Amino acid sequence: MTEPFDPRTHQASPGELAGRIIAVTGASSGLGRAVALACARYGATVVLIGRSEKKLEAVHAEIAAAGGPEAAIGVLDLERAVARDYDQLADALAGRYWRLDGLVHNAGLLGTLSPIEHYDVPTWCRVLHVNLTAAFALTQVLLPALKKSADAAVLFTASSVGRRGRAYWGAYAVAKFGLEGLSQILADELEGTSAIRVNTLNPGRARTAMRRQAYPAEDVETVPLPETLTGPYVALLGPASRGVTGRAFDAQPGLPAGAATRAASSAGSSSRE
Ligand code: NDP
Repeated sequence: MTEPFDPRTHQASPGELAGRIIAVTGASSGLGRAVALACARYGATVVLIGRSEKKLEAVHAEIAAAGGPEAAIGVLDLERAVARDYDQLADALAGRYWRLDGLVHNAGLLGTLSPIEHYDVPTWCRVLHVNLTAAFALTQVLLPALKKSADAAVLFTASSVGRRGRAYWGAYAVAKFGLEGLSQILADELEGTSAIRVNTLNPGRARTAMRRQAYPAEDVETVPLPETLTGPYVALLGPASRGVTGRAFDAQPGLPAGAATRAASSAGSSSRE
């Protein structure tokens, strides 16, 4: 019997993502920036999507300085974008590259940590919109380009609070539960009819602005840097994961690889996000 695919143990070759065009949302900072830089390092042409052109330009320059393939920038504020903005991004991408081989939904908003009883309704709507609805809308508009790829991957960024409910995580956790559902539905719809695989990846604790907001008293030195967590992203975007779809993965040790949602959730602990 062959072992189930585990993106944590895959060793990428230097040209693992060569020739692939991969879009990353929230590529301006934190995990998204680290994933974008890693994709470029492994040879991908990266489409940097974010709300701040200035921050995206800085990542673009980092990729160029490291000798990576020239990246593209797509400015899209996921809170404010309307259908026309999504269409413009998809048209620009199709005009420049014709196809898309990878789409990493990484952008996210924490909102507030608060009991459901007192959760602020406008914040609820905003967090659900940026973290869930925008990922749906962007996937939908980019599906034609993904279908043109011979081996495409869609990756949604998960969280352990979106696999097992935990007090006070409110809209953020509900949106992450929603992404797990969206991923499963899309994987089921595309399996057998396209070369697109769809999975979720929980990065686990990462030293970013969002983590600091969620755990302000935590010793940051104990939290892994985003740069150390990019291997599983590369594995799930590259040829190693071809045919692997509809699964929920973790980037850090402690959980079974590609566990079903219930199995993955039972291993959560209070310090995991
Ligand atoms: P950061 O806060 O560092 O990064 C969030 C990213 O989302 C930034 O690039 C930010 O852009 C972008 N973003 C926020 N709002 C919008 C918007 N309206 N339009 C476009 N982009 C937007 O957080 P992380 O890097 O930690 O989070 C990345 C992902 O990882 C998220 O999905 C998060 O839920 C998930 N995650 C993180 C964990 C952790 O411990 N850090 C643990 C589990 C999951 P800008 O730079 O302009 O602010």
